[in-house]
Amino acid sequence: MGQLRANKFDVTHEKQEERSETVVINTCGFIDNAKEESIEAILQYAKAKEEGLVDKVYVTGCLSERYKEDLEKDIPNVDEYFGTHDLPRLLKTLGADYKHELVGERLLTTPIHYAYLKISEGCDRPCSFCAIPIMRGKHVSKSMEVIVKEAEALAREGTKELILIAQDLTYYGLDIYKDRRLAELLEKLDKVEGIEWIRLHYAFPSGFPMDVLDVMVKSNKICNYIDIPLQHASDKMLKSMRRGITAAKTEKLLADFKCIVPDMAIRTTLICGYPGETEEDFEELKDFVRKYRFDRLGVFTYSHEDNTHAFKLEDDVPMEVKEERVAEIMSIQQEISNSLNQQKIGKSFKVLIDRKEGDHFIGRTEYDSPEVDNEVLIEAKEQYLRIGDFAMVEITSAEDYDLYGALVKN
Ligand code: SF4
Repeated sequence: MGQLRANKFDVTHEKQEERSETVVINTCGFIDNAKEESIEAILQYAKAKEEGLVDKVYVTGCLSERYKEDLEKDIPNVDEYFGTHDLPRLLKTLGADYKHELVGERLLTTPIHYAYLKISEGCDRPCSFCAIPIMRGKHVSKSMEVIVKEAEALAREGTKELILIAQDLTYYGLDIYKDRRLAELLEKLDKVEGIEWIRLHYAFPSGFPMDVLDVMVKSNKICNYIDIPLQHASDKMLKSMRRGITAAKTEKLLADFKCIVPDMAIRTTLICGYPGETEEDFEELKDFVRKYRFDRLGVFTYSHEDNTHAFKLEDDVPMEVKEERVAEIMSIQQEISNSLNQQKIGKSFKVLIDRKEGDHFIGRTEYDSPEVDNEVLIEAKEQYLRIGDFAMVEITSAEDYDLYGALVKN
């Protein structure tokens, strides 16, 4: 979108007008649900094209990288399908030039005060269930200079919170610097003027670079927050998943996190119904969730993806069982989340105000990422807050996934 804007195109994220000249759909092809959502979007715009509401429809991203031939056959009304490395060709087709000099030029799809910042692309891990390396290729880190420039450009536009993402944050640097350099990158980003929060998403547990925690402790800007997908807790499952870690090592890592950064909020994701998951494996997973009381947790049903290692195994856990297991974990987590939230009542937090909705301003603490974590609701009747500003808020009541608070008066 930044490239198109630099080419003087009138470009918007998601459809604003009744009629558009051209629509570009960026697809996801990770698991069944994401694929379905992407296909629905393609069908919706293929239909809009038939009805004369859109002139051209192009599809890019992971789904079209992975299933280009099938899509061309099944939805031929799309003008062209592009893969994940086809940006210059896509721009050319749209009548724009790919400008190499555009470092950090972005057109944000988030509110200006927070932005996702991708530090690398692709993945070298061998996780058995995962199709991402097939779609995104080998791990390629962006250089620190390029990332810092992008962060500075975002800060100049008004971004206050950077959310660092990659398929695997902790691998950062190994390809280009022959060394894990996430900690050094964080030290550099910490110095970017205007940025107040830096949040870490998608850290792989095996070989976690512990120096990252030292930077987190030293810096006021690095949120005491980590998103570390653990996927399972049974050794049998972890081995088959090729995660390169055991349950005991995972537990040691979590203990180290809490010892070095005691107030760290940990978000994780798990998979239920991986091939061969028995009741015993699932019991182990439940015990693990109960014991570690994660601040944030998401669970997915296993999705049997072709060309992955796990595809050779039998997808033997019936969908109803997968769904029941997901529901069971989420009900355990709901209680945990509620009890952790109750403990926040009476405490004050720095809150970043994301939006206004009805009678409330809605914001987040440093322990919460947008869209996936808790929100803090503040009565809008008696106080005025600006979107994108920070405010000190005292928590007055709490629900499972929401906190209610009032401004702390100076
Ligand atoms: S680290 Fe993440 S992206 Fe890479 S293979 Fe494993 S699950 Fe997939």
